[in-house]
Amino acid sequence: MYSISEKISITRKISVEKSSFINDEALPSAITTFSCCDCGNKNTIAIAPYESGFPVFQLYNEDKILSKDELLKQGIVNKTSQRVLHFGELTVNDLPTLYFGTDCTSCHSKYICVFSYGEKQPGLEILTISGIWKYEYLK
Ligand SMILES: [Zn+2]
Repeated sequence: MYSISEKISITRKISVEKSSFINDEALPSAITTFSCCDCGNKNTIAIAPYESGFPVFQLYNEDKILSKDELLKQGIVNKTSQRVLHFGELTVNDLPTLYFGTDCTSCHSKYICVFSYGEKQPGLEILTISGIWKYEYLK
């Protein structure tokens, strides 16, 4: 898992085996897999709440890495509801939203994963993986 610091473009969405984790399912980490669209290798990702990821704001701040428009167009995030705007302008499931970069362990194709985690209502903590997208650096 790493942060991304240069402009990227999204090329395609990859499906994950499991995308929603409730309460204990996300502890100590939410584990799922995805298949690389280039080589077919099955990659495992483990997301540890409050440890994994970087604020999604870092991507769209001044459109530095990915523009807000692109994030919305690709369905990576949604506009946040007014009542929880303190979580940021763009979120997944109206909860604090993070991202990380990860590479296929076999062919090193680059992927970005976006997820959110938090208490949706008292006693209900949800980790939602919005998805995994293949990306490339813009030249
Ligand atoms: Zn691969």
